[in-house]
Amino acid sequence: MTATDTHCPYCALQCGMTLTPERKLEPRDFPVNKGGLCAKGFTAAELLDHPDRLLTPLVRTEPGDRTSPFREATWDETFDLIVEQIEKAQRTYGRDSAGAFGGGGLTNEKAYALGKFVRVSLKSASIDYNGRFCMSSAATAANRTLGIDRGLPFPLEDVARARTVLLAGANPADAMPPSMQYLDAGREDGARHIVVDPRRTATAAGAHLHLQPLPGTDLALANGLLHIAIREGYVDEDYVRDRTTGFDAVRSACNSYWPDRVERMTGVPENRLRETVRLIATQGPAMILTARGAEQHSNGTDTAQAYLNLALALGLVGRPFSGYGTITGQGNGQGGREHGQKADQLPGYRKLDDPAARAHVASVWGVDPDELPGPGKSAYEMLTDDALRVLIVLASNIAVSAPHSNHIRRKLRALDFLVVSDIFLSETAELADVVLPTAQWAEEEGTMTNLEGRVIRRRRALPPPPGVRTDLEMLAELSRRLGREESSDPRTVFEELRRASAGGIADYAGITYERIEKEDGVFWPCPTEDHPGTPRLFEHSFPTKDGRAAMRAVVHRDPAEMPDQAFPYVLTTGRNMQQYQSGNQTRRVRTLTAALPEARAEIHPDLARRHGIADGDLVELRSRRGTAVLRARLTDGIRPDTVFAPFHWPGANALTDPALDPHSRMPAFKACAVAITRHERG
Ligand code: SF4
Repeated sequence: MTATDTHCPYCALQCGMTLTPERKLEPRDFPVNKGGLCAKGFTAAELLDHPDRLLTPLVRTEPGDRTSPFREATWDETFDLIVEQIEKAQRTYGRDSAGAFGGGGLTNEKAYALGKFVRVSLKSASIDYNGRFCMSSAATAANRTLGIDRGLPFPLEDVARARTVLLAGANPADAMPPSMQYLDAGREDGARHIVVDPRRTATAAGAHLHLQPLPGTDLALANGLLHIAIREGYVDEDYVRDRTTGFDAVRSACNSYWPDRVERMTGVPENRLRETVRLIATQGPAMILTARGAEQHSNGTDTAQAYLNLALALGLVGRPFSGYGTITGQGNGQGGREHGQKADQLPGYRKLDDPAARAHVASVWGVDPDELPGPGKSAYEMLTDDALRVLIVLASNIAVSAPHSNHIRRKLRALDFLVVSDIFLSETAELADVVLPTAQWAEEEGTMTNLEGRVIRRRRALPPPPGVRTDLEMLAELSRRLGREESSDPRTVFEELRRASAGGIADYAGITYERIEKEDGVFWPCPTEDHPGTPRLFEHSFPTKDGRAAMRAVVHRDPAEMPDQAFPYVLTTGRNMQQYQSGNQTRRVRTLTAALPEARAEIHPDLARRHGIADGDLVELRSRRGTAVLRARLTDGIRPDTVFAPFHWPGANALTDPALDPHSRMPAFKACAVAITRHERG
């Protein structure tokens, strides 16, 4: 065996790394991480031979009784059981009673194959994925305004050249530490950074300005910034006239966002709002970057829109080292939302209700367009719909990561049949009828699309353990048993994906495995093999009908759940540096758990004093939906009216509010009302 150049299995930075035959990971000089890796990446090889690894299919000893223990089963027996249950449910309740839930960690090939499997082999509309809980608000705002959703419409290296960067609800210092080299380089060169976050995160601590709004008030803050920009004459009138529509309505909507009013709504002092606008508008190239802190709200789409409006009014979008971007979180959070595992979408970021899109994809799939189901329900709505009877889950641990997780667990238990594919027995797999042991990152080929829209190759460095199959092999076998032949070979699936995406928004037609290899990744859109790819978007026009960005007036709405006497504080959730997503992988990595063994609730000392809580105490957090017990970490870096809980362990999402954004169907992860009491002295 030789060393294999590949990419980290975790976040959307997709750092380049080399896996040696001794299973050691070394950082690689890839254009994004330039030799950097965080602790998660450095320790990812611990997953490969982990003693918890699932190595054989599991079924219940008493079929239908999910309280009975698992027993090992053959693949043949397992596939028979799954197909029998799918057919039974669809015969009894209709096609849409069987469906799938995917993940933003799936390779492009697997995301594509899963969407096709549900729509063609199951003939069902029931599919969505965990990206609905992640990127959907920013994606919706970008699509409707810019005509395209590519998280960063420029390479990450451009960030180092911006003179001002506003980061709203983003904490790259903890979430993707190697990306900080670009912010650090800019700062060393005199750039100013502004961080909007209710917590003084590691990113905020290094910024020139830290704005600490009440969670859920980002839209008011963004409209307030635009109000100041308009009043103080910073709007780029030529840009607005030539490259946008809708500004008059936006200007009117921002009229009432006087700085003193915005200060009362958000808690951010007026002078800081003015200083922020001055820095963005007067220092040269400027960027506005949002992430989940601003987006995961019941008004998340409009909040992302408000920041987009600000960037457009200042003439930033499409200019060198300037613009608006959203920082994708999951490993394939970008590619995972382009190839058809979303409820309303076909490959190439095509719309499922667009007749031309249906006709194109149906011709690639060799089916009648009229046979393709229409759009399905969004993630939370699908998971909680009694009409769903059989569910196949890939690359998701929804029992921990979905909002109002106690309700989600109840719904999963109420299904007629639950199938989970995973590398470990996750909290979701523990609830399943059948668990399928799947291959992991270094054991299979595939492509990923990173946060910049750069399509890269994750290479197979070693074979999966005996008894383990890839998700593509599982889907192909299930399809075969349901009457349709599909390939399980990643390269063959990618070739089909290229054809299916051709002419779409996310056009991969010109991207080949060989080009990715040779060019260290290729940026989509890339319509032909002689096209260079598109690292930077919007330089001359926007891919909208009239070539202009469609600004849209938005107004603040309070979070769906506001603090009251019974639940007087705001809970916000987020990440720790040592953990990734639901923690199903990283909670098993010794080096990472040694550094941070358990969830810590961040509480301001004033709030703690009021409730007799000392640092290190166990505290009970209660919302209208559930309870979580966490260890307290006192810090004056958080607002005194806000509590922070990381979502990497079961607990935080027992509290969160599933109120959905009306446009993106994103739940309100980042703001709900909670009460707090000291649980017992730890
Ligand atoms: Fe992996 Fe993300 Fe860490 Fe890079 S920043 S090593 S991609 S987890």
